Amino acid sequence: MERLQETLEAIFMDLHRHPELGKEEVRTTARVKELLGERNIAIVEHDVPTGVLANIGDPSGPVIALRADMDALPVTEETGLPYASEIPGKMHACGHDFHTTALLGAAMLLKEREDTLAGQVRLIFQPGEEINYGAQALLDTGKLSDVREFYGLHTDPNLDVGTLGIRPGPIMASPDRFKVRITGKGGHGAEPQSCIDPVPCMASMILALQQVVARRISPISACVLSITRAVSGNTWNVTPEHAEIEGTLRTMTDTERDLGERVLRETAASVAKAYDCNAEITYLRQSRPLVNSPEQTAFADRVGRELGFTVIAQEMSMIGEDFAMYLKDKPGCFVRVGTGKGPILHHPQFVADRRALARTSEYLATLAQRRLAYLRTLEE
Ligand SMILES: [Zn+2]
Ligand SMILES: [Zn+2]
Repeated sequence: MERLQETLEAIFMDLHRHPELGKEEVRTTARVKELLGERNIAIVEHDVPTGVLANIGDPSGPVIALRADMDALPVTEETGLPYASEIPGKMHACGHDFHTTALLGAAMLLKEREDTLAGQVRLIFQPGEEINYGAQALLDTGKLSDVREFYGLHTDPNLDVGTLGIRPGPIMASPDRFKVRITGKGGHGAEPQSCIDPVPCMASMILALQQVVARRISPISACVLSITRAVSGNTWNVTPEHAEIEGTLRTMTDTERDLGERVLRETAASVAKAYDCNAEITYLRQSRPLVNSPEQTAFADRVGRELGFTVIAQEMSMIGEDFAMYLKDKPGCFVRVGTGKGPILHHPQFVADRRALARTSEYLATLAQRRLAYLRTLEE
C-alpha cells in the first residue's frame, strides 16, 4: 500500500503540473496509455480523439465500468504548491487529476487480482467533463454498450480524508443553460411612442422567470433558476433595439426538467408578447440530473464501511456532472471522496489532498471486484 501510494503521488503531481482543457487531453491520454501499457493492461481502441478505455479481467463474465474524468479548467492556480500548474491560465481545479490517478491505482490493483475477477472491469478515462462532452462522446462509440453498471467518484473539499459521501437517488442537477434575445424597435430616448422599448420587457421577464421555479415546481423538489447576465443598450439617449438575458435552470428529475423548460419558454414568449416585442429563446440541455441507483449505492456504501471509511449521507448539489449520462439506461453510483477540507471546487486555491490516493484506489478496485463476484452469483 505504501509503495502504491508513492507511485500514485508521483503520477498525480505530474498530471497536476500539466493540466489540459477538455478535448485537449493529449498529454494526459498518452501518459495514461503509457502507464497502462507498462502493466500489460489491454487498451480498447475508440474514435474519440482523447480519453482512454481499457479492460481488465474475464471477458466471459459481467462488465462493470469505473470512470475517471481527465480535463482541467481555464483557471490560474494560486495554491503555491511545489507541484503547481506549469501552464498559465490552466489548472486542475476540480480534482480530475486525482480521479485519473486514483483510477490508475485501481487498475494496478485489479491487474494484480486479475485471476480472481469474476468478470471484466472497463476502465474509462474520460475527456471533456467540464464542457459536457466526454461521457456522451464515449457512449456514442458503442464501446460501453456491454457495461452492466457504472461507478465513478469525485473529490470533495468539504470532507476529510478517509470519508466518503454517498446518497441514493438524485444527487446532482441538470445544469441547463438558456438565453433570451428580445427584439423591439430602437429610436430616440425622448420618443417612446415611436419605439418598442426592449428594456422594460427584459425587466419584466427577469421577474416573471423567477416564478418558473417558485410557483410552478413543487417546493419539495430542489430546483433553481438564476439569471446571470442581462444586457441592453450602450448609451443614455438611445432606446436600444435589443436586450438579452442569460441564465441557468437546474433540476433534479427529468420530469421537472421538462416542465421547467416548457414553462420557461412559455413565460418568456408571453412576456415578450405583452410588450409587443419578439423573443428568441435558446434552451441548451447539458447533462441530465445525476440519480444514483438504490441497490448499487447501498453496495458502494457497504464496501466503503468495510474498508474502514467513514461514510456520511452526501448532500445534494445543484452543480452538474456528466457522469449522469452513463446512468441514463444503466444503474450505478457516483461517490464523493473526502480530499481534505479547503477552498471549493473550481477555486484557484483548491487542493486535493494526495494522501487520499491509495485508499481511493483500493476502494474502487475492491468495489469492482466484489460487485463482479456478486453479479456472477446472480447468473449461476
Ligand atoms: Zn468541475
Ligand atoms: Zn469535476
